[in-house]
Amino acid sequence: MNDVLRELAAPVLSYTIKKIERIEKGAVHLQEGTTFTSPILAKVLEHCEEMICFIVTIGSALEMEAARLNDYNRLTEAYILDRLGSLTAEHTINAFHDNMNRRYRNKGYGVTLRFSPGYCDWLITEQQKLFLLVDTEAIGVTLTESCLMHPRKSISGVFGLFPVATDDTTSPYNPCVQCRKRGCHARRRRVD
Ligand code: SF4
Repeated sequence: MNDVLRELAAPVLSYTIKKIERIEKGAVHLQEGTTFTSPILAKVLEHCEEMICFIVTIGSALEMEAARLNDYNRLTEAYILDRLGSLTAEHTINAFHDNMNRRYRNKGYGVTLRFSPGYCDWLITEQQKLFLLVDTEAIGVTLTESCLMHPRKSISGVFGLFPVATDDTTSPYNPCVQCRKRGCHARRRRVD
């Protein structure tokens, strides 16, 4: 399966770093004019000076192969391949997040947890604003009218950079700790 995965999944990532002008009334205002509206995101980014906007994709070959397997009624293989595609995209963005955490720690900054449009109270329609900030052409990701990404195995989102003392090991704010939403598959039980 490893060889198949290597052949079908080609992770690529595009990102940009934007200065935050101010955060007020549940909205994050960027210096270049974009405003993201989400009280939870605004709280997460409360002490941040900059925000990293990213989109990652593994391309469309894997989902095409999963669809082909489905058509031939090879449902278990299709399901496993689909799950592996999701995990590969997750692993790619987690590695990027960890990498940025290490890089910015040395410069006196911490990184927040990451958030994506469509989760918490951040409307999926804000995906359109995110897509105007990131170079999506370079990685071949497009948005449908309902703001879903194509290829489907793509992840978009943001995380913040906030000043922190190099010996400060305090965890960044995690809204999931107080959130009562049941069955949220994006819930973070620990901060990493
Ligand atoms: S559990 Fe966490 S990710 Fe899910 S809605 Fe609540 S705050 Fe957002």
